[in-house]
Amino acid sequence: MSRARVRTKRIITKAKRTPGNRISERYLKKGKERNRCNACGIVMSSVTSKGPKSGKTQTRIYGGNLCHSCLETVLKYSARVKSKAIKIEEVPIKYKMLIIKAVEKL
Ligand SMILES: [Zn+2]
Repeated sequence: MSRARVRTKRIITKAKRTPGNRISERYLKKGKERNRCNACGIVMSSVTSKGPKSGKTQTRIYGGNLCHSCLETVLKYSARVKSKAIKIEEVPIKYKMLIIKAVEKL
C-alpha cells in the first residue's frame, strides 16, 4: 500500500531544521474542519465534525446550521414578519433568506 501522505491531502509537509543543522521534511496532519454558523461564522462547539450527523446533534429548528444567538434573532424577526409588524425589507440582509424560509415553516 502506498504511503499515507500520497494517499490523502490531509497530510502536509513542512521543512524543519534538525538539531544537527540539516533540513528535513516533517509530515503534519491538518486539523479537522469544524461546523460554523451559516450567518455569523463562529465555530459551533456542540457539533463535533463535518459530515453526516450523528445521533448526538441538536434537534431544534436550524440545529447544526445556526448558532443559538443567530437562531434567536431569526425567530424574532420571522414572528414579526409573519404578524405583519414589520416588512421583510426592514430586516438585516444577513438574515433575510433565513427569515423567508423560517416564515414558511412557522
Ligand atoms: Zn451565528
